[in-house]
Amino acid sequence: MLLLSLLACLSKVTILPPPIFDTSGIEETIDWPKVGEETTQILQQYVQVDTTNPEGNETRGAQFLGQILEAEGISYEIHESSPNRGNLIARLPATGEPEQGPLCLLSHIDVVTAETEKWDEDPMSGVIKDGYLWGRGTLDMKGMGAMELMTMLLLKRQNIPLKRDVILLAVADEEVSGEGVRYVADTYWDYLQCEHVVNEGGLGLHDMMFEGQTVYPISVAEKGSVWLKMIASGEPGHGSTPRPNEAPKYLLEAIETLGARDLEPSLEGPLDQFVVNIGGQKGGLYGFVLRNPLLRNTVVKKQMLDNPITRAAIINTVHVTGFGGQNKPNVVPSEVYAILDCRIQPDVDPQEFIAYLESMVSEHIRFEVISASTGSSSPIDDPFFYALARQAVRGEENAVAGPVVSVGYTDSNYLRPLGAKAYGFVPVALTAEDMEGFHGHNEKLSVENIHIGTKKLFLAVLEVSAKKSP
Ligand SMILES: [Zn+2]
Repeated sequence: MLLLSLLACLSKVTILPPPIFDTSGIEETIDWPKVGEETTQILQQYVQVDTTNPEGNETRGAQFLGQILEAEGISYEIHESSPNRGNLIARLPATGEPEQGPLCLLSHIDVVTAETEKWDEDPMSGVIKDGYLWGRGTLDMKGMGAMELMTMLLLKRQNIPLKRDVILLAVADEEVSGEGVRYVADTYWDYLQCEHVVNEGGLGLHDMMFEGQTVYPISVAEKGSVWLKMIASGEPGHGSTPRPNEAPKYLLEAIETLGARDLEPSLEGPLDQFVVNIGGQKGGLYGFVLRNPLLRNTVVKKQMLDNPITRAAIINTVHVTGFGGQNKPNVVPSEVYAILDCRIQPDVDPQEFIAYLESMVSEHIRFEVISASTGSSSPIDDPFFYALARQAVRGEENAVAGPVVSVGYTDSNYLRPLGAKAYGFVPVALTAEDMEGFHGHNEKLSVENIHIGTKKLFLAVLEVSAKKSP
């Protein structure tokens, strides 16, 4: 019986439908090495524009992008969400009456701080060494910003008839408060009306699951976040005499209870499809395991729970990230608290999740909500998703693309509730070592990735934006 159910069915890998626009004719007319070279130079200069957040000073970065657009006859506007926090909007209008809502190329201009003395090269240098362009923002996310800019320039230079507006949207302050995207969306949404968005979120990873295989997770959803202060109350007293009704003891018990909760891991949804796709590409015995629903729900689920990264993707996390209270050794305080950073699946309601936590802990515990936000998701069955997936793996035999839920959130989480279908995908492929540059030391992006990524992004955008000739 077990054998029968094992053999009964294999989940279907995503079969990409044929492209809605054949991009090959236009692709052939472009001098790609030259385009890659130009994008690399733009990124070098963009890295040199200091937009470290805090302060941000993104207006500088917006002006840098703006002057390149202007030189090619693409008009732009810069709107400041607060002094020096510039947000750029540039638009290539549809040729004739638009057939579809705009496609928006989104990036953030700000970068996180860098501990210069711990880097091998100056984080603001944009120097090229050993095939890499070095600098803060090359990965997060001026590299993508430069590729998006080049996509605009190519659409314009090639004089491509567009069936929809294509908008470049470079915003301030993603790294600290998300002020830029909120301001732009709240103030200019009538004007933007992005139907599709591409932004950061997913990217290609070499050798992550299997040696020699490159996986391209495309983020179609983001988890929500619930930040809580979990406060325990009890009887105050003297440190010399432990008693059973003290606040610190209640807090420890509550943490233990929450840690022992049923994790209810979910392999359903986007990530499940991605695992199936990897199985399809992998083939063999392990491919069979990955594609079999029963084995996926047992063997694979267990493996995913053992790895902190995949574990975070399949459960609602409850993460103690801080403590507070008075800290005199001989005094038992009447209140102490823990800070919890909880991340919930996109379909979980934050209030219901808080009620669930409350139901588990004792009456000596209360929660104060620091912030709570719902996650968001976009459809997988969508032409732009397919175009991104198609381009992700192009020219690579041992690569697979598929949908995932991001465990962190990006500016996309703000645009999805307004109606945008947003996909997180930077079309580069990184090694584990490259990944350490994200918010870390020695952030760098290979020149090869800049060349390939620019081409992939342009072709994906072209497929869903170009007007078919009559
Ligand atoms: Zn970022």
